[in-house]
Amino acid sequence: MRLDDSRESDNVEDRRASGPRIGGRGTIGIGTIVLALVAMYFGVDPSVVLQMAEGPPTTQDAPATKPPANDPQARFVSKVLGETEDTWSAIFQKDLNRQYVAPKLVLFRGATPTACGTGQSAMGPFYCPGDSKVYIDLAFFDELQNRFKAPGDFAQAYVIAHEVGHHVQHLLGISDQVDQLRRRNPSQANALSVRMELQADCLAGLWAQRANAARNILEGGDIEEALGAATAIGDDRLQKQAQGYAVPDSFTHGSSAQRVRWFKRGLEGGGLKQCDTFAASTL
Ligand SMILES: [Zn+2]
Repeated sequence: MRLDDSRESDNVEDRRASGPRIGGRGTIGIGTIVLALVAMYFGVDPSVVLQMAEGPPTTQDAPATKPPANDPQARFVSKVLGETEDTWSAIFQKDLNRQYVAPKLVLFRGATPTACGTGQSAMGPFYCPGDSKVYIDLAFFDELQNRFKAPGDFAQAYVIAHEVGHHVQHLLGISDQVDQLRRRNPSQANALSVRMELQADCLAGLWAQRANAARNILEGGDIEEALGAATAIGDDRLQKQAQGYAVPDSFTHGSSAQRVRWFKRGLEGGGLKQCDTFAASTL
């Protein structure tokens, strides 16, 4: 990929330094300790002051932290996210006459709290509609390269673009509609999930086509890298492997061939209509 001219997004939140924080408690500042000492002096049990300062177990993480400027992997992710912001803003403006609201992207290690419950690295990258955030443990990109044999920067960009595709589905109300349909027709739940996932692949393809048309970001071999990733992380391929790593964000993504087909469909350009997997008679 050519990202030299691409801007970095401001929407990357770096939680890697904080590590797993699930059920953790707030930090105790020096002020609290002073307060506890003062309380002790006045005959108040200091543990009461400390407990009040700590508060209940946190489900919220520390305030958003920007990734360090000298971290090439984080910079890459920020640039790809910036590309999705510019591209989807233009598509929303032009095709839908509405404003695109960008998602946040959280880098984490191990586990992290989300509005959708505890996010675990083993789940692979995922999107949580409850807080409109994409969650990625960058170790997944090593997995993609070493375990799934899908190397390359554009393979990684495709993974990010797929998750941003879920955000687009959320903004367009598609996720909500599908959730309702799933509840009404439990027997169709899996088939509906597959259509959701293939649509996210198609939206990733559409992003790649539009971003390339605007800023010429693709290099020779990039598309093959993304197709390699789509092939490697299709359900059929994954189920053949001994499970150690769960399928990214759910177990129902469609077969490798289907994922490749819908990514390519998006790449052909056109518009959002082209990615209507729900209207397609065959996937
Ligand atoms: Zn997905």
